[in-house]
Amino acid sequence: MKGLMMDYSLTVTSLMRHVEAQHGGSEVYSLTVENPAHRTTYAEIFRRCAKLANALRRLGLTEGDRVATMAWNDYRHMELYYGISSMGGVLHTINPRLFPEQLQYIVNHAEDRFLFSDPLLLPLLEKLHGAFPTVEAHVLLCSREAMPDSSVPGLISYEELIEGESDSYDWPDLDENLASSLCYTSGTTGNPKGVLFSHRSTILHTYASGLADLISINSTDSVLPVVPMFHANAWGVVYSAPMAGARLVLPGPKAGDPEALVAMMNGERVSKALGVPTVWLGLLQYLEASGKKLETVTSLVVGGAACPRSMMVDFAERHGIHVYHAWGMTEMSPLGSVNAPKVTTAGLDPAARLEQQLSQGRAPYGVEMRLVDDDGDELPRDGKAVGRLQVRGPWVANRYYRAEESALEDGWFDTGDVASIDSEGFMRITDRTKDLIKSGGEWISSIELEDVAMAHPAVAEAAVIAMPHERWSERPLLIACLKEGESVDADALLAWFEGKVAKWWIPDAVQFADELPHTATGKVSKLKLRERFAAAA
Ligand code: AMP
Repeated sequence: MKGLMMDYSLTVTSLMRHVEAQHGGSEVYSLTVENPAHRTTYAEIFRRCAKLANALRRLGLTEGDRVATMAWNDYRHMELYYGISSMGGVLHTINPRLFPEQLQYIVNHAEDRFLFSDPLLLPLLEKLHGAFPTVEAHVLLCSREAMPDSSVPGLISYEELIEGESDSYDWPDLDENLASSLCYTSGTTGNPKGVLFSHRSTILHTYASGLADLISINSTDSVLPVVPMFHANAWGVVYSAPMAGARLVLPGPKAGDPEALVAMMNGERVSKALGVPTVWLGLLQYLEASGKKLETVTSLVVGGAACPRSMMVDFAERHGIHVYHAWGMTEMSPLGSVNAPKVTTAGLDPAARLEQQLSQGRAPYGVEMRLVDDDGDELPRDGKAVGRLQVRGPWVANRYYRAEESALEDGWFDTGDVASIDSEGFMRITDRTKDLIKSGGEWISSIELEDVAMAHPAVAEAAVIAMPHERWSERPLLIACLKEGESVDADALLAWFEGKVAKWWIPDAVQFADELPHTATGKVSKLKLRERFAAAA
């Protein structure tokens, strides 16, 4: 027997309607290049979403068309988030820190029809626009008055694009399984892969992420996502804060500037903020040096890379701020787990409690986790067995955009992380099977670096491993074996990378070895290399 309840689509459009009706007056503060303190409301943002949708319809946008953004966290980017998805388009957020070949690949692979860029990224756009043949119109996220001179043909300001448009739009009733947004993530080899979120996955993720044991957002909060809107949807906060009616504080291009962040957090009475460890480390150092305090923040969500123990302790003991350690990935919309205490946590002694808090936390309803060994057999959840972490759930990807094959193994998504899970459900990442290095929250492909190193005439074999780094979480270390009779020193070998990869990808150091350890299948054993070179960290 079927239930007799309404078939109500879970869409970004319905979220917009809810926020407009219930929290239209809640404020959104943004720092932009034009305005260090722009204030608006959700109601005003949605009014401008209608103008944007009318403009995009005029330009010929039809359902499923991709519209790209290269932008920081601010109110105009938020208008693009809601306006594009709600009219049936696909919001494609692009990470401007990727290097030009990757940007070119991503825009062409997605076949973006329109590209909205922040004015600070104009130099990048000037260089690249010719490599984006599918893009029919370029829009700069600024007012008509702030438009700089540019060689990009037809470049128009966002305000000019929307100014003559009506502020009402007949939003369509969309199927909840339609795509709402797209975000590319680095693959271990080859090109980035597109994760295509649906309206349904987005709304279910939003529901869960606001829960008390996840990010815990309510209408009295002021939430600052330092994590960018171009990386894994700013962990969903641009949806979950409005859903709850919380204020949003958006740092624009100042997300990497501790002084500006502290001023914003105190001035805007931020209660919760989210970001990667590198950001918080810079902020802690600034607080230490300046003697300033965070006056209103009660909790921070730290994720994207492992939260260092000293960071959790410093925030708690010196600043009275609780750090919630979170884990997730773009393919998971991105939230997979948050470390919130359980009743049983209270019984632990302080050292054991800290140890538990440092784990990556528990999965909410909507994320199933399991550990498997190399044969695919499931491992016990005893806090000791370590295996490949696999997940499934309604906001987990099952296939990459335009990929022929499913991304699943036996119905589960392999995260590329290696972990243990204890009997209370707390998951701890111990390693990674994917050949990637995460530096300051962004990926570096070890395989691509190895290819560059091995193209050097003196190098016989090379491997790149992640070394722990205080500021960046991880940095690449190159281990090179030279051909017999050849010589090259470390500086010359590192100079070889210049111009071949992005500057921030270039390894920090080189270690020379007579030979590299191999596994039974003939692959370089990164595990053994990490053990051997741990002392170099
Ligand atoms: P991304 O898709 O760029 O968000 O990256 C997701 C990956 O970042 C995960 O699969 C992990 O390898 C890593 N990651 C994310 N959060 C954490 C964390 N809290 N601790 C350790 N690694 C993390």
